[in-house]
Amino acid sequence: MVELVPCSKSHALSSPRPSLELGEVATTCWGAMLGGVECTPDFVPGKLHFKNKFCASCKEGILMPLAQVRALSAEQAAYFVNRFSKGFWNNAPASMGGGQYRIINNTAGCVAPLMAVFSGQPPSLDW
Ligand SMILES: [Zn+2]
Repeated sequence: MVELVPCSKSHALSSPRPSLELGEVATTCWGAMLGGVECTPDFVPGKLHFKNKFCASCKEGILMPLAQVRALSAEQAAYFVNRFSKGFWNNAPASMGGGQYRIINNTAGCVAPLMAVFSGQPPSLDW
C-alpha cells in the first residue's frame, strides 16, 4: 500500500484555481472512487476546486494498492493527462495499453515524477 497525501495543503488552500476541473459532475467523494478507502458516507463533493472533491477523511490521505500506482516517464506523461471534462477517470489510449487512470502528483507544490493511479491493473508498459 502507498499513502497518497496532498502535495502541499497550504498551497492548495491558499491558491484555488477556479477554472480547474470546471464542469465535472461527481456524486461522491473522489476518494471513494479510488476504492477501498475509508470515506465519509453521504459526502457531497463541492464544485470548482479539486480539494472540494474530497471529504475530510480523504484529505488526510488515501491508501492505495501500490500495484495500481505507476510513476510516469516524461515520454509517458505526454500520453497520460487528465481530461478535465470527463469525470474522475481518464481512458488510456489503446496504444498505451488501455485502462482507466488518473494523473496525480501533478499540481504546483508536488515533487516529480507524475504518478498515474489506475482503476485496475495498469497496462504492461515499461514503467
Ligand atoms: Zn472521502
